[in-house]
Amino acid sequence: MSPPTIVTTEGAVKLVPDRFRTAWPSAQPLLVADRNTWEAAGKAVARAFSEEGFDTAEVLLFDEPQQVHADQAHVDAVKQRLGQEDLVAVAIGAGSLNDIVKLASYECEKPYCCVPTAPSVDGYTSPNAPITIQGFKQTIPCAPPQLVIADVTVLRNAPMAMISSGYGDMVAKITGGADWLIADALGVEAVDRHVWDLVQLPLRGRIGSPKALMARDPVAIDDVFSGLVETGLAMLLFGNSRPASGSEHLLSHVWEMKGLSFGGELVSHGHKVAMGTLITTAMMTRISEIPLDAILSVWNRNPGISFDTQQVALETSLGEKLDIDMLRIAKEKYLIGVQLQERRARIASQWLHIQQSLRNQLVAFEELRKMLEQAACPVQPGEIGLDRTMVRYGMVKARIIRPRYTVFDLAYECGILEALIDEVVDSGRWFTSFA
Ligand SMILES: [Zn+2]
Repeated sequence: MSPPTIVTTEGAVKLVPDRFRTAWPSAQPLLVADRNTWEAAGKAVARAFSEEGFDTAEVLLFDEPQQVHADQAHVDAVKQRLGQEDLVAVAIGAGSLNDIVKLASYECEKPYCCVPTAPSVDGYTSPNAPITIQGFKQTIPCAPPQLVIADVTVLRNAPMAMISSGYGDMVAKITGGADWLIADALGVEAVDRHVWDLVQLPLRGRIGSPKALMARDPVAIDDVFSGLVETGLAMLLFGNSRPASGSEHLLSHVWEMKGLSFGGELVSHGHKVAMGTLITTAMMTRISEIPLDAILSVWNRNPGISFDTQQVALETSLGEKLDIDMLRIAKEKYLIGVQLQERRARIASQWLHIQQSLRNQLVAFEELRKMLEQAACPVQPGEIGLDRTMVRYGMVKARIIRPRYTVFDLAYECGILEALIDEVVDSGRWFTSFA
């Protein structure tokens, strides 16, 4: 898949027609927007097309009062219009709208152009679209847009909650990176240096000005947006979401499947991962403090258990049966005999190295909390409706919803996951307010 051409500048909406014509000389645009994004940028894009001499700029407006969800019905609606020979879609919107058009265009075997309206997600340039099909969210592989034209003026005027959410999704790259370092140290999944650098080298700069971001400072907005775009490109280059997503996203996925809402509204992706980032930072910080001797003595007391025993323990702590996918992943991750011995030997030999890598990679918990606070992200579980039970549930389940190796696997294999969960939830060192 070739990477998209990205234009980020003030007043970029005016450039859309010219770029569109250069990319697809014989095509006509189909502008896809919702109520809010039509006001934010859609009208201006339509005007620019007519000023450039396009006689028709067809419009598909999702004119519904509630937020547009990325689901099959919306994808089908776009596909129906795109079926006409010479139309190429211009998605004017943020996460969901872009995902709808991305999948619809892909299924019609057409390219498309994206005009982002908020620096809220890293999905603009990613090679997949999370779509809800028959009630289940599925991440479907599909081509990214060929053109991304971001108007910084539009991004600056995005709703504050969306800007804050984008910041949360950027901060998540700290722990996502730390998980990759752990997997690399244990020989589970090697770090790809080029892809790593793309996300991690600029990261501290991208998230360094939360106060300015909340003041809608153009440079801070551009930083977060560029960081999100870089992350999307890194996923495209690497072929999956490893460069952008680790234990913090797993927590977010679990809560999302539970429909986590607060004050009657679904909690945004970025705010769930911001909370996930704080929780996994707490876990990783503890791991960087625990001496190897303590792990060795846990292992001495626990020579390994059968899969059936492990399954019962998991189902007891979750209070539910494992479904077929979780059972499969739990089985894939289950180690016994020689494999268990080898993994423990590797953890032991890499322990100091892992601890040092974590110290280098992490932003100190207190500092991270302050940054998130300044960016209006949640810093206490209670602020997004999480009670103690749901935090615990997430921390147990996160490990078995995806094959990806993260700090949850390391803690589990060290035999300290439950103790860490207790500490994160109950010690008062990390969090004090729950729903
Ligand atoms: Zn994310």
